[in-house]
Amino acid sequence: MTVRAGIVVTGTEVLTGRIQDLNGPWIADRLLELGVELAHITICGDRADDVEAQLCFLASEGVDLIITSGGLGPTADDLTVATVARFCGRELVLDTELEARIADILRGLMSRLPAGVDFEAVLAANRKQALVPVGAEILEPEGTAPGVVVDGNAEGKPVVIVLPGPPRELQPMWSRAIASAAAQRAIAGRTEYRQATVRMFGLAESGLAEALREAESHIPGFAGLEITTCLRRGELEIVTRYEPRDDAAYRALVDFLRERYPRELFSEDGALIDEQIAALLAGRTIATAESCTAGMLAARLADRAGSSAYLAGGVVSYSNEAKVDLLGVDAELIAAHGAVSEPVAIAMAQGALSRFGADTAVGITGIAGPGGGSDDKPVGTVCFSVALTGREPLTRTLRLPGNRSDVRERATTVAMHLLRRELLGLD
Ligand code: ATP
Ligand code: MG
Repeated sequence: MTVRAGIVVTGTEVLTGRIQDLNGPWIADRLLELGVELAHITICGDRADDVEAQLCFLASEGVDLIITSGGLGPTADDLTVATVARFCGRELVLDTELEARIADILRGLMSRLPAGVDFEAVLAANRKQALVPVGAEILEPEGTAPGVVVDGNAEGKPVVIVLPGPPRELQPMWSRAIASAAAQRAIAGRTEYRQATVRMFGLAESGLAEALREAESHIPGFAGLEITTCLRRGELEIVTRYEPRDDAAYRALVDFLRERYPRELFSEDGALIDEQIAALLAGRTIATAESCTAGMLAARLADRAGSSAYLAGGVVSYSNEAKVDLLGVDAELIAAHGAVSEPVAIAMAQGALSRFGADTAVGITGIAGPGGGSDDKPVGTVCFSVALTGREPLTRTLRLPGNRSDVRERATTVAMHLLRRELLGLD
């Protein structure tokens, strides 16, 4: 049975784009894991009528569950609970025990504030947060704002989960919200799904589409696989949702992709290239020498907690002088081959190895554009060299598509993949 849900994201700052909506996509993932079909995400400002219009729209679409985000604070523009109460035809009542718990939280917060803040005024402002729709289940606050779950079924309405806007509050409250009796009633009887991800690199989306059409014709049960592909940073992410009974079809699909694309399929368990690199660098020390990416590879390596175990550092050697002075690249090599050349990429990686005392290094030099291209080295030409001590370096020159920022981003991802291949000892 299909259970459908809708998400109402409130907040003028989100509507205007000043703040990027993190809650809609996050809840969408949770619903997907639960096997609940997400029908719509709507966004509106902090206006009661607009919030109510969206609740009415989703109810008219027949969703079983609505989740709202935002508008639970103490200020006048925080009106979601009152709006949901009106939508479900419920009175708001003051929950004095909840009010006392909020007061406790505030007392704790205030003790860290400078003296002179009027505690009574703060309490009065927060009293509003203890007003809950009659019969609602209360979700204890992570900050000061409690959430509520209202079962609108008696009124012919969906179950509504009301959560605060700040993601650090909303996320920990989610599991309690979905465990509430009303939410469980709303999602009972849904079909259970599995979801699995594989990742590929170096393959166009059109090529994959063609391969999938072929897979369709000879994998029994293929129709039970709901496959979505997404091109991100030059990588293809293939997410498949299926019922447990179609597990064999999914495994056949992964076998098919592995056989067809042994080089391109780099992750069968959904692990990101960044996670794979972090694991492969265990016990090693890496340094980077970057020209056109100007530190983007080093930043990407440093993105993960614990990277200090393997990341020694990097040199942003944008100018020829920096390549010579900071990395010891021979000026005559640059004069002979040009700054964007394989010999220079190799010399940069070797320089990083020796300057940092590392055993792994990556050199990147390229033309990000829009200027600086020539006939034999057009914009997008990037030379890479991955050096592991005691081995011949792996060196490649690629023509990367797109504008300046695409080329720089793609070069960083290519470097990650070359590094992976070299660390795995693949040719
Ligand atoms: P508060 O008590 O903090 O006012 P609230 O439930 O009223 O909580 P909002 O006023 O809607 O939440 O939002 C407070 C802040 O939380 C926003 O300014 C924004 O920084 C963050 N926030 C709200 N909604 C979102 C969202 N959908 N995505 C990302 N951040 C959000
Ligand atoms: Mg608010």
